[in-house]
Parts: sequence; structure tokens; C-alpha cells
Amino acid sequence: MSDMSGASGAPKSLEQRLKAFEGRSAAVAGVGKDPVNRPMIRHWCEAMGDTNPAYLGPDAIAPPTMLQAWTMGGLSGHTGRTEAYDELLALLDEQGCTAVVATDCEQEYFRPLRPGDEITFDSVIESVSDRKTTKLGTGYFVTTRMEVRVGEHLAGTHRFRILKYAPAHRPERKPPPRPVTRPRPVVNRDNAGFWDGVRQHRLLIQRCTACASLRFPWLPGCNACGCPEWDTIEASGEGTVFSYVVLHHPPFPAFAPPYAVALIELAEGVRMISNVVGVPYDKVRIGQPVRLEFQQHDEELVLPAFRAGGEAA
Ligand code: ZN
Repeated sequence: MSDMSGASGAPKSLEQRLKAFEGRSAAVAGVGKDPVNRPMIRHWCEAMGDTNPAYLGPDAIAPPTMLQAWTMGGLSGHTGRTEAYDELLALLDEQGCTAVVATDCEQEYFRPLRPGDEITFDSVIESVSDRKTTKLGTGYFVTTRMEVRVGEHLAGTHRFRILKYAPAHRPERKPPPRPVTRPRPVVNRDNAGFWDGVRQHRLLIQRCTACASLRFPWLPGCNACGCPEWDTIEASGEGTVFSYVVLHHPPFPAFAPPYAVALIELAEGVRMISNVVGVPYDKVRIGQPVRLEFQQHDEELVLPAFRAGGEAA
């Protein structure tokens, strides 16, 4: 106690609180979402490039390394999960250890799993390490140990370790060295006519000469009838916002988030992705009338955009 007086008593109590999680259950009586089955075995072997004949045919066993796969909860989550593990992670979050990285796992195999086996599992918080400093930051290694069973028989164990840590301070990001221009469109022989039109401030829509279907974006043939012959019509420029997203992340150097990217339904019926301008990003609405305009972004680049806000240009 003599070296843990005053304010430095708090870390000691944290260590005790963390150690108290050791031995608590992380999952009780969990049930595998699917029995051991051939389709999952086949997909696993294909993904791993594992051609071992033991995993094929009427006497096939499951690859032992699939052990964890049979216990995974998928998007809908685990059965049997307890609150202890979440409480432990929340306690570490409170200490600033908000980041997590899986560090390693160890498995033991006691009996092979075969198609049809029904899996159950229990998991225990095996250990919480002392505070450690790593290149990633300072935090705690948390190890869980799962026992995977078929009926009464232990098939294997899966020990899984994470580092829950406070990220090490990183140097400030340098500002971008120069203004970045908007990305160039990828122009090819199928869409060159469209971009020629844009340079002339004309928004051209392809029209099939056989069935008169309009199509956008430009394609070499008609989706409706397959005909490769086409001409164009010029869009009137009227449209409405059919749908939109507001981009906050990731940041791209040529764009300043947040900004709205919209799917515009043109009066002619085809839709195109573009920017909505003239209103703040959070005032873009589905059904909003918009009007085409052309924006000169730099010496070479003209792009269509759609202006919301009422009056026609
Ligand atoms: Zn057609």
C-alpha cells in the first residue's frame, strides 16, 4: 500500500475490478446456428484452397480449423451471450481503451466434427492482463476460452485474445499539399458521345432506334430489345430528386463533406447520379424539383449538376 497512496490508488482499484471478470461466463449454452454441414465445409475449403480429401465424400469430416465458424452468430448475433463480457468492454471503454484489435487465437481439437453434428458452446473470460503498452497504444489483453461440444462430448476449444487499448497519440495530419481537382470522368468509346455533349452544355440521352427505349448511363446496346443502333435526344433539363445520400465520410480530397449526392429522375424518365446545388446538403429532399446546369470546374472539366431552389435558370 505504501507505494499506492493518494490519487494513484484509483488504478489499483481498476486492476481489481478487471481481475474480477476472470472466470465469469461470456456465453452460456450457446447453440450453433446451423449443424455441421457440407455446404459450409465446401465454401470453407474453396476459400482456403484446401483440397484435403478428408473433407469430401460420404465420410467427410469438417476441417478442424472451422471450429469457430460453427459458433458464429452472424448478423443476428449469438445465443447465450452474457452481460459480463459487454460490461468488461464498457469498463475498458470508460478508461479510454476505446479501440480494439484481435491479436491471436489458439485452438485445440479433441474429436472431429461431422455433417449433422449439432454444436453447443460455452465461453468464459479466462484472463484480463495487466496494463500493457504496445505500439498501438496502452491497454489490456482480454482472453476468452470457448468450449465447443457435440452433445456431452468436447470437440475442441477456441481461445481468443483481443487488445482493448487507448490509441497512441498520432502526429497531426498534414494539410493537403495543394488544391485537388475533381476526378476526371472515365471516357470510353461507349460514353464519349455523352461527354462530348456535356462539353457543349447538352445532356444527351441515348435512344434505341428499334424500340425507342431511352437509356442512361450510356451503353452499347438496348437493354429492352438488344438492338445496338441508337440515336440521342437532348434532355430538357427538368428533373426531380429520386433519392439521395449525404456523404460525411470518407473524405475525398476534391470534395468538402458533407455534401449531397442524388439520383435525379429526368423528365424523360431516365435517372442519373449527380450533385444537387443551390441548397444546403441537409435541405435536399426526395421529390424536390431540380434543374440541370453545367458547371465549369476547371479549365478542362465541365460537369452536369442539378440546382434546387425553385426558379429555373
Ligand atoms: Zn430497344
